[in-house]
Amino acid sequence: MIAFVINSATKAAVSPLKGQICRGLPKNPSFAASTWLGQAALSTRPRSSQGRGRSGVRESAATRARAPVCVQTSDVAMRVRSIRDLQDAEIRGKRVFVRSDLNVPLDGKRITDDTRIRASVPTIKYLADRGAKVIVVSHLGRPKGGFEDKYSLAPVAERLSELLGKKVRMAKDCIGDAVATEVAAMSPGDVVLLENVRFYPEEEKNDPDFARKLAANADLYVNDAFGTAHRAHASTEGVTAFLKPAVAGFLLEKELDYLSNAIESPKRPFAAIVGGSKVSTKIAVLEKLLQKCDTIIIGGGMVFTFLRARGLKTGSSLVEEDKIELARVIEEEARKRGIELLLPLDVVVADKFANDANTKVVPVEEIPDGWMGLDNGPETTRMIQEKLRTMKTVLWNGPLGVFEMPNFAKGTFAIAETLAEITQNGCITIVGGGDSVAAMEQSGKADKVSHISTGGGAALELIEGRVLPGVAALQRA
Ligand code: AMP
Repeated sequence: MIAFVINSATKAAVSPLKGQICRGLPKNPSFAASTWLGQAALSTRPRSSQGRGRSGVRESAATRARAPVCVQTSDVAMRVRSIRDLQDAEIRGKRVFVRSDLNVPLDGKRITDDTRIRASVPTIKYLADRGAKVIVVSHLGRPKGGFEDKYSLAPVAERLSELLGKKVRMAKDCIGDAVATEVAAMSPGDVVLLENVRFYPEEEKNDPDFARKLAANADLYVNDAFGTAHRAHASTEGVTAFLKPAVAGFLLEKELDYLSNAIESPKRPFAAIVGGSKVSTKIAVLEKLLQKCDTIIIGGGMVFTFLRARGLKTGSSLVEEDKIELARVIEEEARKRGIELLLPLDVVVADKFANDANTKVVPVEEIPDGWMGLDNGPETTRMIQEKLRTMKTVLWNGPLGVFEMPNFAKGTFAIAETLAEITQNGCITIVGGGDSVAAMEQSGKADKVSHISTGGGAALELIEGRVLPGVAALQRA
């Protein structure tokens, strides 16, 4: 059972992850909605980084035996069962409908990154090993509403077969006779992969009739698709009206554990590194972190809006003019709460937004006109590294420079290295959401941190303290 405590009414729940009682939820149930940043700031939260997550979950970590965890997000209490809570007798011989996130990048029919498939294996294998008939469903890409060969999950079935060491049969559809025939032919331990669920527009509309058809050939439901848990779709939410029990898989459980629980009740000191391009995309995350962190390290493009709020010149760096006041309020709020908010001391500036630009390192007080800051300078990197080495929990969201260009990637990759180092020394390190996950993977250190999220938008929403519909549905079921 995952004790998924998202209600201020629930004042304490046991958190074996950290061996402590989770306390200290906000007393005011409407706190998350009526905050010091105000509704206007919150309503600007864009959704640009949603659905871009990549995965680095290791099988051993995903399946490690663990007692129930306390997970807290916002203001409603719920308890979510996981497959760990099912008795073997509840699984054996049963048709289990598993919603996985197998949305992998393809070059034609070649899978270029199988991380999401690997991350989905522990749950599928656990069920198959216990004699379930495992019916796996996923989406892939953005089909326009009908069969498109380039979005067929057939290549995924092949890779899944290799990883499981057994043949995974591919159904030609995700509903109807094609599925019924495949499922009728299954023996305990077999795995069938259904065709892309988004070939039907009814999936994203959460159409109840479509959900009923999806559920028609199954007995119970497992949601392991963290990357789409923030969407109320037929295969993530609607289907739970028809299949009981409905429980979380190992991957979903682990994401909830780290992105919610470890952040709500962190081992201290707790630092968050918040980078990326814009303040406007991170308002809700910053707001949440101001309630939880001891130190917030600001990086990336948003640095320059903060520097302007301090009255500094920023040349032609990225600045959100309409967020300068907000940056000032955030710094003021951090100061009032006794939270350390770190901005760079020096930056790498360039005379154009290109890898072959002329560059120099300058203190943040001396950014020349016509030059733009594209990475942290070496003094800043050293300062951040030293700070991180004193932490017990670190959350990283958003790159610290334009890491896609090698000449502006040093600051970001240095932090990836440092996260790997401090993890070895016992720090809980969590990389959640968007490009920081990509940076971690490019650095080759993705398997050296405590947790890398598989979900971009879902990770951000969970960090912000939102209720994910795919998780709420498990509690209702
Ligand atoms: P986000 O999606 O908000 O996490 O932003 C990620 C993007 O921020 C990456 O594509 C980076 O290249 C970009 N970025 C990081 N630092 C800067 C900077 N100093 N100026 C402009 N863009 C940046």
